[in-house]
Amino acid sequence: MTQIQTPAPCLDEIQVKQQETMQHANNVLHVIQMQHGQFFDQLPLKMNAIVTQNASVRTKRNHIRILALDINEKVSSQTACRKQCSHCCHIPVLLSSHEAETISQKTGIQMNATPEVSFTPEEHFRQNKVEKYLETRPQVGPCTFLAKDGGCSIYENRPLMCITHHSLDKTDFFCRTDLDPDLTTVPSINTHFIHEHYAGLDLNFKIADIRQFFPSTQV
Ligand code: SF4
Repeated sequence: MTQIQTPAPCLDEIQVKQQETMQHANNVLHVIQMQHGQFFDQLPLKMNAIVTQNASVRTKRNHIRILALDINEKVSSQTACRKQCSHCCHIPVLLSSHEAETISQKTGIQMNATPEVSFTPEEHFRQNKVEKYLETRPQVGPCTFLAKDGGCSIYENRPLMCITHHSLDKTDFFCRTDLDPDLTTVPSINTHFIHEHYAGLDLNFKIADIRQFFPSTQV
């Protein structure tokens, strides 16, 4: 879907909006804590139960994915995220080679198993290579799987990064891709631990952008 964007706002407008956004996000966090405080307090225990269970790595990964979906479900009514918004489908979308393989198996779409730019989990989490890569602001078009109507054509199998991505803002103002990313932090619940535990199960995989794993939707 073509995104309609108004002219980029000036710095003063952005600064005022930042204050409003932080206030709103704090209020939203309070509501989420009131509604689901017990769930979030128990997250470390739930995660520990997943990673220490007597099961295969594949099963544990699936359970981490289900936990991420649970978190998403708890916060979704409080986010600015709306069906067919798709702003976040125009920024870098990193996923693991396991997730890419699952998408390829479930959809029959050919996967590039040797993406030109990829990282190991070690480089991602300990050497900050991904941050450096993202700092170069790679010029990316829409995600390969973004449908014409603005929906996700692989919604059931979308990557963990897409499941955990959300905005606690009131509007999509800071999700706009024409604003300087340094000025546009989108408030969200920190879900970094989900990705760290996922990677910690087995460090033998690659991380790359979805457009590199899937340059096209060719079957
Ligand atoms: S996989 Fe789906 S939700 Fe994720 S960026 Fe692509 S189109 Fe958007």
